[in-house]
Amino acid sequence: MTTNKNNLTTSWGAPVGDNQNSMTAGSRGPTLIQDVHLLEKLAHFNRERVPERVVHAKGAGAHGYFEVTNDVSAYTKAAFLSEVGKRTPLFARFSTVAGENGSADTVRDPRGFAIKFYTEEGNYDLVGNNTPVFFIRDAIKFPDFIHTQKRDPRTHLKNPTAVWDFWSLSPESLHQVSILMSDRGIPATLRHMHGFGSHTFKWVNAEGDGVWVKYHFKTEQGVKNLSPDVAAKLAGENPDYHTEDLFNAIEKGDLPSWKLYVQIMPLEDADTYRFDPFDVTKVWSQKDYPLIEVGRMVLDRNPENYFAEVEQATFSPGTLVPGIDVSPDKMLQGRLFAYSDAHRYRVGANHQALPINRPRSEVNNYQRDGQMRFDDNGGRSVYYEPNSFSGPTESQENKQAAYPVSGVADSVAYDHNDHYTQAGDLYRLLSKDERTRLVANIVEAMKPVEKEEIKLRQIQHFYKADPEYGTRVADGLGLSVPQQVK
Ligand code: NDP
Repeated sequence: MTTNKNNLTTSWGAPVGDNQNSMTAGSRGPTLIQDVHLLEKLAHFNRERVPERVVHAKGAGAHGYFEVTNDVSAYTKAAFLSEVGKRTPLFARFSTVAGENGSADTVRDPRGFAIKFYTEEGNYDLVGNNTPVFFIRDAIKFPDFIHTQKRDPRTHLKNPTAVWDFWSLSPESLHQVSILMSDRGIPATLRHMHGFGSHTFKWVNAEGDGVWVKYHFKTEQGVKNLSPDVAAKLAGENPDYHTEDLFNAIEKGDLPSWKLYVQIMPLEDADTYRFDPFDVTKVWSQKDYPLIEVGRMVLDRNPENYFAEVEQATFSPGTLVPGIDVSPDKMLQGRLFAYSDAHRYRVGANHQALPINRPRSEVNNYQRDGQMRFDDNGGRSVYYEPNSFSGPTESQENKQAAYPVSGVADSVAYDHNDHYTQAGDLYRLLSKDERTRLVANIVEAMKPVEKEEIKLRQIQHFYKADPEYGTRVADGLGLSVPQQVK
């Protein structure tokens, strides 16, 4: 017989005779190893999980499009941004950072905000967060930082002492900690939060002229947050609250959307701006570099299959297109390696060829073989370069824009160590009630810290950002602001 879609088959396509009763020696006898359908079922089941992402494990994703609404071709030659009205398909994934796949959605944590644009010049990944800054600014600190966010190796519990120890010894984290502890630390839904590229990138136009750029996705649903009490209740009642909300909204046609804006900085300003523009713990004031509209992102289609489309989606900040380059941001530089490396480990050497990741434009190169090479592997085409057989060749006009560097190779700290002004600006920007809730959230989070020395060190950071901020946290913890900081 020829099998059709109604026939249950093995993975090799042969019809299955019995999918309910394993083959035994006699009706009560032991199971026979010759029931290869049973063996295949059990063996495949054992292999259903790929390693979960070490960070951003719990996520929800959706398909959509980006439409250009303002002409930015003076700043970038990226083809997908080249004209007003142009639409590019995309896939977006939102995530919590610290929890495991399956952990509760409504926790206090930054949210990942990753977008894969399927452009005509290859994929462009913008792998940001729902906050404009980050806790640290050098990738060399990332594994240590994440260890403090994950489970304690002995107790297998979250460890607030480790969290605040690390933060208090890494004062560059203060700005992000203040955002995290504010109302925006627990978004109401994934639809009601902004997104940011966070790092500084470079845009280059058709003339080869560059500018530094920062991305802001502003939610068109409005910013809404959850109170800690409601969030805690939801985490128990429906750990998948955000995942469900995004899916249901799209399913019923209530399509979430974001307006994309950029801040543009002339290259030469980087040397003189009052904050290091490559330091991801800092923002660029919008008074100095106002937001410029670029376009609109709409999510309009749910994945058909979570594993194939969300779990196997691989984003990397190094997936760039002509007209968009990186900056010397040390956190970004580390991520250029770490993200693709994680995907090679987690999904495999040929992860780019999976349907969710595959560019919609042509892929022509001399890379061959590797585990799970499931396309034609380049067929009979020429497999080395240079060659005399008309193989694909580079296009010099798409080289990354050259830029000058100077200095001595060394391990050097950022020389801008003002960790306090912008965290203080944030505190002062908040309403009276928002400040009260921020302080209450911090006090609750710091109470379980085991060493007073850690609490006092952190209180000094809050105090340096704004004396009222530090004093109120100290009061809440029943401590005094250390004299040396006053
Ligand atoms: P602006 O007044 O020009 O911008 C303030 C920014 O803060 C806006 O992007 C606003 O975005 C955002 N904001 C408003 N309320 C809150 C809140 N409760 N929590 C977090 N963000 C909020 O001032 P500056 O650009 O000089 O920045 C002042 C401070 O604002 C910074 O130190 C930083 O902490 C914070 N901020 C700055 C951003 C930037 O890119 N410059 C981005 C986000 C925050 P919206 O009204 O859309 O929410």
